[in-house]
Amino acid sequence: MSDKPIGIVHDPLFQEHDPGSFHPESPARLVAIDRALNEWAGREVLQPILLREATREELARVHRDSHLERVAATEGKRASLDPDTQTSPASYRAALAAAGSLIDLCDAALEGRVAHGAALVRPPGHHATPTRAMGFCLFNNVAVAAAHLVEARGLERVLIVDWDVHHGNGTEEIFYEDPRVLYFSTHQSPFYPGTGAVGSVGRGEGEGYTLNVPLYAGQGDSTFVRIFEDLLLPVANAFRPRFILVSAGFDAHRADPLGGMRLTAAGYGALTAVLRDIADEHCPGCIVLALEGGYDPPAVGRSVVACLEVLAGRSDGAEVRQAASQAQAPEVLRQAQATAGRYWKVF
Ligand SMILES: [Zn+2]
Repeated sequence: MSDKPIGIVHDPLFQEHDPGSFHPESPARLVAIDRALNEWAGREVLQPILLREATREELARVHRDSHLERVAATEGKRASLDPDTQTSPASYRAALAAAGSLIDLCDAALEGRVAHGAALVRPPGHHATPTRAMGFCLFNNVAVAAAHLVEARGLERVLIVDWDVHHGNGTEEIFYEDPRVLYFSTHQSPFYPGTGAVGSVGRGEGEGYTLNVPLYAGQGDSTFVRIFEDLLLPVANAFRPRFILVSAGFDAHRADPLGGMRLTAAGYGALTAVLRDIADEHCPGCIVLALEGGYDPPAVGRSVVACLEVLAGRSDGAEVRQAASQAQAPEVLRQAQATAGRYWKVF
């Protein structure tokens, strides 16, 4: 167990982003996380990170000016940026604070002031592209943080793990030609937003640095853990990340009303344990989760706690990992290994 605290971004401001009463991406998600954290026996280990708005320079590393201006124009208003993506008067400020505070959390981990961290922020980010908001996302929080780590902090290699049930099309697009950022995604397919085929591997210098694992609906803990153990782990050991950012969507949970997957909270914990193995080897203390989707609030609360249990060293996910090692590997795993094997000589 580490003697350092776990950094956490957690503030009522993120409940003020309100896309509308029937919208699944609701403030109730954070209320449920609050409740779960308050009941968590390990909560003493959490250290709050102060809120800070992202600067224009930080956002402009991944977003075009036209996009920044369009989102800024929603300040103080109810507006619609895309059929799925609405703002309330506080949304712009919440979006700025989500991205900026995530950067500060990453810096705290990088400097060893905290060991690992979680940014429990809204609005989410991984669908936001350089030029547009979409899929409930205004700014691409994780991409902004990754760009900060490579450009402002000079890290040579950052791993982004996206276990949200949807493909992070925005993040993929932003780093598609960039070998400094390895983007790895498991996602339901066919499904929104329609991107994320196995054959989408990056382009130019970034070829081989995008790794997609599309999955049919109905997959559970064992499938996900096998993919993390038998595909992500060996590739990550070859890539040697200096930092691991997680697009932590909990909409692959079995209770989720939008996703069709069957992960459990313990399964999310086991995935975090695989990431811990990678981090312990290459970047101790440098796993930072950023909340993306997850639309069954109690399941999101339980899953966040399961991940924190592993980051805090209170759990190692061994039971789920053991069961997964005896389960049959999904067909797509071999296909994804063959694709990744063209770039990573580890299979
Ligand atoms: Zn999602």
